[in-house]
Amino acid sequence: MLGLMQHYPLLVSSLLEFARTQHRDTPIISRRVEGDIHRSDYSQVANRACQAAHALDAWNIPAGSRVATLAWNGYRHFELYYGVSGSGRVLHTINPRLHPEQMAWICNHAEDEVLCFDLSFLPLVQALQSKVPSIRHYVALCDADKLPVDSGIPNLVSYEQWIAGHPTVYAWPQLDENTASSLCYTSGTTGNPKGVLYSHRSSVLHAMAIAMPDAMGLGAQQVVLAVVPMFHVNAWGLPYAAALTGFTLVFPGAALDGKSVYELMEAEQVTMAAGVPTVWQMLLGYVQSQGLRFNTLRSTVVGGSACPPAMLRTFAQDYGVDVRHAWGMTETSPVGTVNTLKRKHMGLDVQAQHALRIKQGRGVFGVDIEIVDGHGQPLPHDGKTPGDLLVRGAWVMKDYYRSDNPSPLQDGWFPSGDVATIDADGYLQITDRSKDVIKSGGEWISSIDVENIAMAHPAVAMAACIGVPHPKWDERPIVVVVKKPGMALETADLLAFYQGKMSKWQIPDDVVFVDSIPLGGTGKMQKNKLRDVLKDYQLPSAQTV
Ligand code: AMP
Repeated sequence: MLGLMQHYPLLVSSLLEFARTQHRDTPIISRRVEGDIHRSDYSQVANRACQAAHALDAWNIPAGSRVATLAWNGYRHFELYYGVSGSGRVLHTINPRLHPEQMAWICNHAEDEVLCFDLSFLPLVQALQSKVPSIRHYVALCDADKLPVDSGIPNLVSYEQWIAGHPTVYAWPQLDENTASSLCYTSGTTGNPKGVLYSHRSSVLHAMAIAMPDAMGLGAQQVVLAVVPMFHVNAWGLPYAAALTGFTLVFPGAALDGKSVYELMEAEQVTMAAGVPTVWQMLLGYVQSQGLRFNTLRSTVVGGSACPPAMLRTFAQDYGVDVRHAWGMTETSPVGTVNTLKRKHMGLDVQAQHALRIKQGRGVFGVDIEIVDGHGQPLPHDGKTPGDLLVRGAWVMKDYYRSDNPSPLQDGWFPSGDVATIDADGYLQITDRSKDVIKSGGEWISSIDVENIAMAHPAVAMAACIGVPHPKWDERPIVVVVKKPGMALETADLLAFYQGKMSKWQIPDDVVFVDSIPLGGTGKMQKNKLRDVLKDYQLPSAQTV
């Protein structure tokens, strides 16, 4: 007889049931939209997720239907992650920062049937309502007595009313593990958004991978603040990894300013936090200006856009917080690489360790990364040669959801659109988005490198490097800068700051000071908008050619 293992499908519902028994009283803490702090635990979340699943049954929402959310990070959203997907429906998380037209387009494309939303998004939902005929039911994520009267939204029900009275256990369907569990649209800068459909299997495997010691290092002793939004790429998988490992989970709600995030971290004794650089910029700005320190925070996972080396240094050297720089995309669930050092690096001096830590890290098992030239030929992993980054793996997308275009895969690899180097130890470093690379005299200049140096200047709050046309060199870099409040900075000072930090020809030709740099729905700088704003800008160096 062949000795074979059992077939045990990897299902989102099994994560929840595991947490219900293994971590029943571990806290789930949320700052609510109302401003107060709400306390729950895995057992209550499991009970209420089951009630939500029954409530969907009561409305006869078929398996596979899309149930949308328009919500901040909080316990009700967390319950829907399990109640919706666990019962075989697809959780469609909508990014509230998208343009309302784009939001309507997405809901129609997904053919959402139910929309669950935080009351702070009521005006958005009111505007959306007439444009999305497929939505049959609306649920306001609030107590029964907070339900707005005369909202104009038909049959609006409060979440608490909706789930009340239903059983707190549910016979979760034993789905094929390749069944769809959730859906997220990419916030692309051109064309219509594209949907990425995750499966139960990919979500569970991704959660296991991000929990590993050399990835996010998650476990039942951690208190994790998920600043990264649940409305974009499933908060980097943290809601699944939470039930998998049983960490105490803290949700910040809508209050993402430095003061609110800091106070929540201190009050709840947060040990690990995950978020994009723009959020950490606000946090560090507050902590520095108030002369505070972190009493419990030990590590942060930073990704979504490049972590400026100056930020990493401040966290590590001034506050003793370990920064794990990570790279990923909506299409990769999102985590592809995370930066932790190997044993052989422990003896390196601080400078050498810092040079390594600012890279985006090593691929986690389950994801392969490769760099290729313009003909698709692999390039050396020497840490110097940049190439187009390809990725494939167990939680990497094969095809966009309901797309008329052919699969974007090239020989089984997904082209990320990023340009990167990989070194002999497997560390990836993103040098640019391929469309943001500056091509000067046939050589490439990394806009991220230019930005990182500017960000290390004490008077710079934010910096974006873009290429502008040049008659001799095709393109030259300029750096667009937002100064820190009350700080003085002249063009010549900043240009002098670049001396010795990069080759002369890579140093930007000019500095343009602005009040703000446009940010997209997920906190990334929108360089296409910036290029629009600066379309009449003339390079001083171009006029002297
Ligand atoms: P999204 O699909 O909206 O999450 O965006 C994915 C893109 O964000 C990637 O293709 C990268 O261009 C960028 N990105 C994510 N993480 C990083 C990082 N750590 N450093 C630089 N760029 C990043």
